[in-house]
Amino acid sequence: MRVLPEPVQKLVDAFARLPGVGPKTASRLTFYLLRADEDISKSLADALIGIKQETELCEICFNITRKGDKMCEICASEARDRDILCIVEEPLDVLAIEKTGGYNGLYHVLHGVISPIEGIGPEDLKIKDLYERLKKEKINEIILATNPSMEGDATAMYLHERLSPIDVRITRLALGLPVGGDLEYADQNTLLRAFAGRRDLD
Ligand SMILES: [Zn+2]
Repeated sequence: MRVLPEPVQKLVDAFARLPGVGPKTASRLTFYLLRADEDISKSLADALIGIKQETELCEICFNITRKGDKMCEICASEARDRDILCIVEEPLDVLAIEKTGGYNGLYHVLHGVISPIEGIGPEDLKIKDLYERLKKEKINEIILATNPSMEGDATAMYLHERLSPIDVRITRLALGLPVGGDLEYADQNTLLRAFAGRRDLD
């Protein structure tokens, strides 16, 4: 086959745009779907549409939640400690921390990190919303749980500087997380230790 029919090429290209999917995997997935039962592509297509149409961000912490819920389960829960706030980069980090079962406070999802190289500044993240939250909610401790990467550290430093005037304890997850690694890939024990050993920033 010298040229793929357009609908096939379109799916190959769409897969190839996903993170971690190279051209080879993109072709393999496409040809798998071509051969497979129609209900497999149908449920994939439905799920792909649903992921955008049936979800939205929690109005308070910006975690992913079902459309119409306004608040995510964590923000809505009566059982959470409402005076401790863990600041993370992405919703996937919330998931990773929740899986440890060792944290019972609230979250705030920044949706990225400050990265001058990529042209991402504080105004592109949910940082203004964080200041607004802190005016309304009675928070005693803020845990800066951005990734132990250059951008994650820089974002934590920026937030530490900005939040210092507020009367609140500010902590950073302990080292021991692999440097340059992502929170979401850390195993549960490492993550639990990072929480237990979090240190005050001064
Ligand atoms: Zn929430």
